[in-house]
Amino acid sequence: MSGTLFIVSLPIGHPDDLSARARSVLESVALVAAEDTRTSGRFLDTLGLRKTLLSYHDHNEQARSEQLLTRLQQGEDVALVSDAGTPLISDPGYRIVRACHEAGVRVSPVPGASAALAALVASGLPSDRFCFEGFLPARGKARADQVARVAASDCTSILYEAPGRIADLLDRLEQAAGPHREATLCRELTKHFETVRHGTLAALRAFVGADANQQRGEIVLVLAPAASEGPGDEQLLALGRLLLSELPVSRAARLLAAWSGRKRNDCYRLLENAGDGESGN
Ligand code: SAM
Repeated sequence: MSGTLFIVSLPIGHPDDLSARARSVLESVALVAAEDTRTSGRFLDTLGLRKTLLSYHDHNEQARSEQLLTRLQQGEDVALVSDAGTPLISDPGYRIVRACHEAGVRVSPVPGASAALAALVASGLPSDRFCFEGFLPARGKARADQVARVAASDCTSILYEAPGRIADLLDRLEQAAGPHREATLCRELTKHFETVRHGTLAALRAFVGADANQQRGEIVLVLAPAASEGPGDEQLLALGRLLLSELPVSRAARLLAAWSGRKRNDCYRLLENAGDGESGN
């Protein structure tokens, strides 16, 4: 019988956000694979736990995955943790999870805090469709391209950003998405100096510009989707005229409403005023 790889979420600030199940899994496993063994060792100390720790980070993921897989196949349970929050979310872990699936080793998540979802739910922005962007490239054309893509996205975007770059990110987004686009700056979530500030990009840029403290610490920016404006009157009329050449105005209005998402009465009025509406009905 092989062991289980537990993906264990740790708090992103407030220690009480560690779940009871996370604590008991950390107590029970033979081995903890940690992004930074010193950071995780200190955290486990606060829980009174002494565990065998194995480093698992971006630079040794491949080799360590093989070692961990061997231990799992020998029947040991392993907990994967990152410095804070949920492993694999802008943190290492993907390779070992994939290797476990390929080898038929059980993987079990122990869910808990993640800055991305904590920020989204506090943002006041649409949460039905969202895209986690993680960190955008730090500079150059790659950064400019990604900012343009995110600004044009039709769903809410969640961005992690390093403290020294938040003013630059807001500047660039303001240029690409316009000053009135809404966003929420989430800083130091669950910690003493937590900030959750909702406003336009222009207002948030002024806010961080006026207070250097707002450019420090750990930051998530949540950006509202680009407004879906739908077809304009010109486009509606063009299609409406085409429909009127074959259909009575009431049916043309019904089809136009279904296509454009506008109200049927509005489409009816538009077609009547187009002067071509006499052709049917
Ligand atoms: N795995 C982590 C998670 O589940 O959120 C994220 C790790 S990533 C290396 C670190 C980034 O997450 C930070 O630079 C920041 O953007 C975000 N972050 C982590 N903790 C945060 C907090 N308490 N408040 C705001 N952002 C946080």
